[in-house]
Amino acid sequence: MKGSVAGAKITGPPRVHDVQRLRRRLDAHMRQRGLRSTDQRRVIVDTFFDIDEHATIDRLAELVRSRDPRIGYATVYRTVRMLVASGVAKERRFGDGHTRYELADEQAHHDHLICLACGRITVFEEPSIEPVRQRIAERHGFELHEHKHELYGLCEQCRKG
Ligand SMILES: [Zn+2]
Ligand SMILES: [Zn+2]
Repeated sequence: MKGSVAGAKITGPPRVHDVQRLRRRLDAHMRQRGLRSTDQRRVIVDTFFDIDEHATIDRLAELVRSRDPRIGYATVYRTVRMLVASGVAKERRFGDGHTRYELADEQAHHDHLICLACGRITVFEEPSIEPVRQRIAERHGFELHEHKHELYGLCEQCRKG
């Protein structure tokens, strides 16, 4: 799957995240666990909040190093684990063997279209799907906590090419 190794660019409508709320959640998590906010951690966290893509650790490390070349991969890795543990970042796997990370912003929920040829990830929001999910869950006496809606196929460019 060529082109999918770097952080796959998000296409689709621009999204507004409540970054302040997510930052407060992270601060609380770090306080509870006695984790210090080092300069390096701050650069990594800021970079993660700034980028609007489903980045792999490799991609994030590359962007972090363009801001501060002294920051190593291991520090980026550990900081991303901390972001996941605090509930600020979410792990995603789209079947290409890479783990990607995105903001865990349940108030700006989006779903994914994944191109099997180039790896492009297109995000969409479709409120009309919500009641359908709810109906399916209810029909089976199921209490719904979360969902992953992933559509796989060929993107517009790859269909033309
Ligand atoms: Zn996403
Ligand atoms: Zn494509």
